Amino acid sequence: MAEQGIGTKCVQGGYAPGNGEPRQIPIVQSTTFKYASSAEMGKLFDLEASGYFYTRLQNPTNDAVAAKIAALEGGTAAMLTSSGQAASFYAVFNIASCGDHVVASSTIYGGTYNLFAVTMKRMGVEFTFVSPDCTAEELDAAFRPNTKAVFGETIANPALTVLDIEKFARAAHAHGVPLIVDNTFATPVLCRPFEWGADIVTHSTTKYMDGHGAAVGGCVVDSGKFDWTAHADKFPGLCTPDESYHGVTYTERFGLAGAFITKATAQLMRDFGSIQSPQNAFLLNLGLESLHVRMKRHSENGLAVAKFLSVHPQVSWVTYSGLPGDKYHALAQKYLPDGSCGVVSFGVKGGRAAAERFMGRLKVAAIETHVADARTCCLHPASATHRQMNDDELRAAGVSPDLVRYSCGLEDAADLIADLDQALL
Ligand SMILES: *Cc1c(COP(=O)(O)O)cnc(C)c1O
Repeated sequence: MAEQGIGTKCVQGGYAPGNGEPRQIPIVQSTTFKYASSAEMGKLFDLEASGYFYTRLQNPTNDAVAAKIAALEGGTAAMLTSSGQAASFYAVFNIASCGDHVVASSTIYGGTYNLFAVTMKRMGVEFTFVSPDCTAEELDAAFRPNTKAVFGETIANPALTVLDIEKFARAAHAHGVPLIVDNTFATPVLCRPFEWGADIVTHSTTKYMDGHGAAVGGCVVDSGKFDWTAHADKFPGLCTPDESYHGVTYTERFGLAGAFITKATAQLMRDFGSIQSPQNAFLLNLGLESLHVRMKRHSENGLAVAKFLSVHPQVSWVTYSGLPGDKYHALAQKYLPDGSCGVVSFGVKGGRAAAERFMGRLKVAAIETHVADARTCCLHPASATHRQMNDDELRAAGVSPDLVRYSCGLEDAADLIADLDQALL
């Protein structure tokens, strides 16, 4: 049979019930699993047989949902994590530890930036941040002999820059390291980074994948394409025996298709324990079942709103890569031909005070720190997340005082536009 389309994978991927089994993925609400003999259980601990023994390591509900996301991204294996933050941490820490170095795009999510620049730095991992718009030469210059990975976001939150995935993948591979892409805003419906050379994908499933503001979660997906053994000196954790896990060598035992995720599960999930609850995995799956339908609508609403704002006299600027004339429009046409998601940012004429007044007049859009939800939400960082900063400090942080981040939900575009129009006076 031909490979199934993205919509069919959204609806049916990852779970194929047999005769008389539940049609919907069951929530296996059990911390532990029963065995008849110690010998049978022992095989699981030796990684000689696969099976469940404790939900911190694996759970059938989580596995089915992870398999669906792996199928959507075109990867070989995936793991669910308790949040997007945990996914970013696991993806990087699985191959970079104390004494190592990572190159990252500078326009990544603020929480990821802090994780890398502050917390992981404290753990001994150094990061060099480069502009996503840097030249191939500038990117090349950021590498060091101890560089272990490159990291970027397909559509950055909240900068809305579009990553030139091929440019970043070429540089990473020239230096013998993988490219990790946070694909949260695009989702595999709008972009599948593996098709452009990325090796590992991460998600905050809290955003569009769940899509209903119901469950915080994350996911790490492996393409199975990066050949760790060709650069075995850089990746001893994958290519030499793990003394903390029965001396297993992950690449030998699980092949390129399974080594990365098995190591992340057996070591990082075992020790850090940021597992997604099976209940949340079930909710995430409900979101995934309609992801292909929703991303189309989010993107249509995003474009309609961006077009309306771009000609509005009270709006000083609009950033949305789906908009012709946007700085990232050419990259969006290449990497995001089916839409640029629902998040639009723009400036309200009159600066901080005018933007604050505009926010107060909105009726359909709710003021929230959330994005990528079925319900339209909106944030003015200068009066919320960044309110302790003065205008100069804001500009230095890349957030202008007039900036509004507007996340189009699934409502009728006409109602969103009417709401914006009455609020923009
Ligand atoms: C929200 C977000 C994260 C962090 O995810 P949580 O689920 O909130 O931990 C990471 N990356 C991007 C792009 C995000 O938008």
